[in-house]
Amino acid sequence: MAGLIVTAQGANGQPCTTANDGKVKWDRDKLEMYSFHLTVPENCTSLTVKLDFLATAAPTGFSAGASTNENLAMLSWNTVVLYPDGVNASDLRVTPSITLPSAWQFGTALRRTDQPAVGAQTYSASFEPVSLETLIDSPVLAGKFFREIALAPEVTPKHFLDIAADGPEDLALPPERVENFSRLVREAGALYQSRHYGEYHFLVTLSDSVAHFGLEHHQSSDDRMAAKTFIEADRFVLAGSLLPHEFTHSWNGKYRRPADLATSNYQKPMEDDLLWVYEGLTQYLGDVLAARSGIWTQDDYRAMLAEKAATLDNWPGRQWRNLQDTATMAQVLYGAGGGWDNWRRGVDFYPEGELVWLDVDTTIRKMSGGKKSLDDFLGKFEGLGGNTSPKVVPYTFEDVVAGLSAVVPNDWASFLRQRLDTNQAHAPLGGIEGGGYKVSYAPQPSAWSEKENTLNTTVDFWFSLGLHVNTAGVLTDVLKGGPADKAGLGPDMRLVAVNGRSYTPALLRTAVYNAEGSGPGIELIVENSGFYKLLKVDYHGGERYPVLERVAGAPDLLDDILKPLAK
Ligand SMILES: [Zn+2]
Repeated sequence: MAGLIVTAQGANGQPCTTANDGKVKWDRDKLEMYSFHLTVPENCTSLTVKLDFLATAAPTGFSAGASTNENLAMLSWNTVVLYPDGVNASDLRVTPSITLPSAWQFGTALRRTDQPAVGAQTYSASFEPVSLETLIDSPVLAGKFFREIALAPEVTPKHFLDIAADGPEDLALPPERVENFSRLVREAGALYQSRHYGEYHFLVTLSDSVAHFGLEHHQSSDDRMAAKTFIEADRFVLAGSLLPHEFTHSWNGKYRRPADLATSNYQKPMEDDLLWVYEGLTQYLGDVLAARSGIWTQDDYRAMLAEKAATLDNWPGRQWRNLQDTATMAQVLYGAGGGWDNWRRGVDFYPEGELVWLDVDTTIRKMSGGKKSLDDFLGKFEGLGGNTSPKVVPYTFEDVVAGLSAVVPNDWASFLRQRLDTNQAHAPLGGIEGGGYKVSYAPQPSAWSEKENTLNTTVDFWFSLGLHVNTAGVLTDVLKGGPADKAGLGPDMRLVAVNGRSYTPALLRTAVYNAEGSGPGIELIVENSGFYKLLKVDYHGGERYPVLERVAGAPDLLDDILKPLAK
């Protein structure tokens, strides 16, 4: 932010002080640096605060990353808001308005109170008064190339896909994509047995010049993807769980929220220990909903799950950091990443939380003889109170345990704490095994993995050499204790040559293939910050890529879980 200028007015609305050009002096708090102290001059009854937000961020990272370009903008109100210290965000009323170029349209969960002016260069839109909490939770997506599509029109409340794109061609999504999202709306209703919003807007930015991520809100979601995501099939599949994930948060995260994340305003610190429910359960359900909505085939889902499960199962950081600690330290781990992530561990409560909840689901199905499932828990837990307007219903760990026990009696507290608090050498794969599958390794990458490598310009040797490398030869990570690590390779080094020839991904794959069994080791020339060295990788296990393999005769619960619920 920049340009914080405060002026004061008297009862007649006119400036009430001539000192300092009518400006009121402010001082920044020395500890809480987004807090400002000022003294209101005598005879002054109101303050006007002018605050600029400089939208110059880089197009990487999370919500602080770039949100606007020449033709579109995503306005997150928290970037332009100051509010009185100490108030409850739900008590403070705000009447928002925005000014936009005349050729732009917009989408938001806020309710508009005026009609657009015709012919002006810019126009202002006003919205109904809302609480500060609702304002912060209701961003506005605007753009020149904009399209709003009604989803599942027979469903009430109403749902809209609002898209702002880099160009008009990116808005031309095929009808089957729209049908996928309509199915998502129906499947979520069938799963949660409730809705907790007046209207829901998927606010989708399709752009190559903004940061790519998703951010949940109660009545909308901020979903940012590459420009061609809705018109290129491979991109659509790989980004397929983003909208289902953020939509799920309207129930799990916004309506039902861990009590220690439900603070009364934005200055109060939050505690993250239940993020394995907030995000782990959402990750599980978002992925299941992607399959139930037809965004993914069952093959897509299994390939995604195999990769996730195999990665966590070969994750050396498990030795020292348990799953619970990845949630408790989330504030720091969200900003971590880069090399040696496998030893540090990151926000693993997403993928490992997903495995835990799959384990819970298959356990309920087995213990109830197929009569109950996690869907029964969700109908009651997320559907508490039936259809409601947006509000927060907080929960604790004990509430989760009680909710599960009401579906199937079990020592759920021990079940969960054992997976959260102990340093288990292997990932919790009970849900995959209970679902009738096992993680195994094939000599060829899955179609899913091939798509990922093509779009990300990477090559996957994680389960063979123990390294991730891009097509330019830069190592993006190395598995601690794996063959590449033992040979002396590390993240950010660059592969220059493989067995005496200039590095190409195909050459390295051939070298791994030829080294299998009693073949020769692999000689690499690598560059490390301007220094070159020759390293020999002693690996003879051949190419290995994870797959889910069906266990003959075991009940195929995983296939059942992925079947649509909506009639
Ligand atoms: Zn999430």
